[in-house]
Amino acid sequence: APVLSDAGALAAVNASGLNPRYIFSSFIVGKGNELAFAAAARVAKEPGTKYNPLFLYGGVGLGKTHLMQAAGNELLRTAPNLKLLYVTSEQFTNDYVSAIKSGAIDRFKNKYRTVDLLLVDDIQFIGGKEQTQEEFFHTFNALRDVQKQIILTSDRPPKAIPALEERLISRFEWGMIADIASPDLETRMAILQSKSQERSAVLNDEVLRYLAINIQGNVRELEGALNKLLAFCELNDTAPSFEAAKSVVASITMSQKKGGITSRELLRVVAEYFDITLDELTGQSRRKELVVPRQITMFLMREELDASYPAIGKEL
Ligand code: ADP
Ligand code: MG
Repeated sequence: APVLSDAGALAAVNASGLNPRYIFSSFIVGKGNELAFAAAARVAKEPGTKYNPLFLYGGVGLGKTHLMQAAGNELLRTAPNLKLLYVTSEQFTNDYVSAIKSGAIDRFKNKYRTVDLLLVDDIQFIGGKEQTQEEFFHTFNALRDVQKQIILTSDRPPKAIPALEERLISRFEWGMIADIASPDLETRMAILQSKSQERSAVLNDEVLRYLAINIQGNVRELEGALNKLLAFCELNDTAPSFEAAKSVVASITMSQKKGGITSRELLRVVAEYFDITLDELTGQSRRKELVVPRQITMFLMREELDASYPAIGKEL
C-alpha cells in the first residue's frame, strides 16, 4: 500500500490512529455506498472546503470505519505533513474526562483543536453525555471556523441519535450526510472476490455466488464466511469447492439459528439448573417450582432456537 512506502508515512499513520489496510482501492463500490464513497473521495481531495462535516451513517459492518479511514489515509499519502487524528467517540469522551480529572484541559484542547483532519467514529455514543457534547461542540466550532475537515460516522442519522443536543444535530447536518446501505448481491460477490484475491485464493463464480446469496448479513459476516471457508480448505487440504462452501455455510447458519444447541439439550440444562428431572419439567404438574422452570424453558426456546409455539408445546 502506498501509505507504507516510507518510514515517515508509516509513523504518521500510526500516530494518527489509522489502519493502513483501510484504503480506497480496497473498498468495493456498489449501489449502497457509492454516494458515501464519492463524498469521502472528494473530501480527501479538498479537505475543509467541500463537505464539512462529512457525516457517514449506516448499519454495523457496512464499511463506515473503512471509508472514513480511507479518506484519512489518502490525505496522508498526498499531504504527509497534515495533522490527522482518528478517535472513536468513546476515546474522545475518556480523553476529556481524564483531562478534567488531571487538570490537563489545555493539553486536551491542543490535541483536538490543532489538527487538519479530525475523524470521530461512532459519534452516536456521545448521545446523553452532556459535558462531552458541550466540549465536542466547541471542538467542532474551533476546527470548522478555520476550515479544518471533520468526518463523523454514526449508526443512524443525526436527528435519530437519542439525547443529542439540537445545536449538534444542526451542525452535523451542515455539510454532507451520506448513508451506507447493505450491498446488493453483485456487490457482495465483488467484495468476496476482492477479499479472496487479497489472500491469493481463487474462488470460482459458483462458489462466490453461493456465499453471497447465503450470507445475507453485513460485510464483516461475509468476510467471516470467507475466512472460515479458506481455513476449512487449508485444514482439509482441499480447494475452495462448491461442496466446501456448502458445508461452511451450513455450519454458519446452524450456529446462528440455534446457538449451536438442540431443544433436548436446552431442556436438560434447564432441568439440571433447577435440580428437577426432565419428566418433571415436561410433565403436567402445576407446582410452582415446576411452572417457573417451564416458563423459562419456553422463553429460551423462543429466543435461542426460534421455535414456534406448537413446537414448544410438543417438546413440553
Ligand atoms: P462499520 O464501521 O460500518 O461497522 P467496517 O468499516 O468496520 O464497518 O467494515 C467491516 C469490514 O468489512 C472491514 O473489514 C471492511 O474492510 C469491510 N468492508 C466493508 N465494506 C466494504 C466494501 N465496500 N469493500 C470492501 N470491504 C468492505
Ligand atoms: Mg465502525
